Amino acid sequence: MFSLGDLYQQVIIDHTKAPRNFGKLEPCNHDAEGYNPLCGDQLHVYLKINDEQIIEGISFEGQGCSISTASASLMTQALKGKTVTAFEQLFNAFHAMATADMDDKPDEEVLGKLAVLAGVKEFPSRIKCATLCWHTVKSAMDDAAEPARTE
Ligand code: ZN
Repeated sequence: MFSLGDLYQQVIIDHTKAPRNFGKLEPCNHDAEGYNPLCGDQLHVYLKINDEQIIEGISFEGQGCSISTASASLMTQALKGKTVTAFEQLFNAFHAMATADMDDKPDEEVLGKLAVLAGVKEFPSRIKCATLCWHTVKSAMDDAAEPARTE
């Protein structure tokens, strides 16, 4: 029988096994590190943002659990070619989804494929695994001196 949960799981497994946009981006003009001490996830995000404030290039490296890797992979796909303003909107929508009530349906129109990660809200300890990459992109955009941390 078709189950949406299985479909979501498949997408997450696929992105964990074969992360998209994985590796150092050269050239890049923003980058930052992120760390989630609760799980041990470590990420390094690279961005190339052009004069029109469009994310021309984005990639990530690092080691983490399957959720953090799949989330970063899906995020890079979602953000490539988007404006910095669109990033802010997606970040807010993603954060809202990850911390929403159990019965709330994710806004798939805004989130697209990112909605596969809606299931993390069932596991509060994994929410930070899923949001780490977003905080790390934010740090990179802000050229923060300190690594992004979920704690
Ligand atoms: Zn994790």
